[in-house]
Amino acid sequence: MDLITKCIALGMAAAAAAGLAINGVRGSLPQSPSQIMNTSQVDPATGLTFRTTPPEREDRLILSDAEWKKKLTPEQYKILRNHGTEPAFCGVNLESKGEGAYHCVGCDLPLFNATEKFDSGSGWPSYTSPYNKDNLWYRLDMSYGMRRIEVLCARCDGHLGHVFEDGPPPTGLRYCINGTILKFKPKEKAAS
Ligand SMILES: [Zn+2]
Repeated sequence: MDLITKCIALGMAAAAAAGLAINGVRGSLPQSPSQIMNTSQVDPATGLTFRTTPPEREDRLILSDAEWKKKLTPEQYKILRNHGTEPAFCGVNLESKGEGAYHCVGCDLPLFNATEKFDSGSGWPSYTSPYNKDNLWYRLDMSYGMRRIEVLCARCDGHLGHVFEDGPPPTGLRYCINGTILKFKPKEKAAS
């Protein structure tokens, strides 16, 4: 199976998870070994490598759907576990809050530094680079008739948002992230 077909299958899986009916069938995608093997490819627009399966991590957080529903608010669950998008300008984490880092509400992994935050005018919190490149992974998202690079948390595989190539220097990237699934932690003050 070529990569594009795989990615379309992934997009359909996301749509199915979001409750959309595809050809009248819900969540009935086959799970053949070739579909769960990872393939990776460099995206020419962003220069980022997107994958079909999550990178390996020792501290991976895997919870059941029921456990996620208990841990997260309905809004957080919809975005993080169900590929949702918050409305633009909903205000959560949109304003600058000083020095610190934005962590995943699902697993507490630091995802973005406050110093990398900028006002993109898009209505969603935007960053020029990740806190640490190993804390995110990327997947090709062909849903809704668009070609986008999806940004996911490397510890809990939560959906965070998308990354675009129209950001400011030095990276030229714009990480467009749902503020609802970020929690801000101020930088700890040095002991006086
Ligand atoms: Zn996470």
